[in-house]
Amino acid sequence: MEYFEVGTKKDILYWSKRLYQKGMSPATSGNISVRTKDGILISASGVCLNDMDEDDIVLIDFDGNVLEGKKKPSSEKFLHTQIYDLREDINAIIHSHCPYITAFACSNKLMNEPIMPEFVLYFDKIPKAKYYLPSSMQLAIDTANYFKTSDTVLMQNHGVVSGANTLQEVFYALESLRAYAETYFGTQVLGGAKKISKKQIKEIKNLKK
Ligand code: 13P
Ligand code: ZN
Repeated sequence: MEYFEVGTKKDILYWSKRLYQKGMSPATSGNISVRTKDGILISASGVCLNDMDEDDIVLIDFDGNVLEGKKKPSSEKFLHTQIYDLREDINAIIHSHCPYITAFACSNKLMNEPIMPEFVLYFDKIPKAKYYLPSSMQLAIDTANYFKTSDTVLMQNHGVVSGANTLQEVFYALESLRAYAETYFGTQVLGGAKKISKKQIKEIKNLKK
């Protein structure tokens, strides 16, 4: 793996490319940030996450004001500031329009079916925030509120947002969620998934202990 320090511009560029190359941030959708001691480093608005360079990353404060950088910060900067405000343990955030995950966000199907032990263990249930205009403060406040009980939130008719201590952890969480989504779609073609029983779910959850 490429060497870079966690929580830096290089960290953001590395995981942005991984996200795009996995088909999880088409075109100029999505945004990515890390909390640093000086503020929040966040992707600029309207950039493709695969094609960014260091100039496309802006330093903002926790009210969304630009501290450093010539570009306009992501239009979802308040989504990021609200989540960082609420969760001191979250130091990295990715918002993505990953098509497989977004399909769930656009339909009335929650991502909560116990079809794979990994999913039951790491996610259990993913809440879905209401639709609000992208980039609005209402969207930021309502969506961030779900982080009181979850590290990942579907955004109705929009996408998904996830936070963790590092971008690597956020990336793996989103990659696992997308794997769940893809597997789920496969099961639909094959006649539907066989669900894991309540007893088996209990056994899986006991693995956490
Ligand atoms: P930005 O390019 O402004 O970050 O917006 C992308 C996006 O996903 C809006 O919801
Ligand atoms: Zn978006």
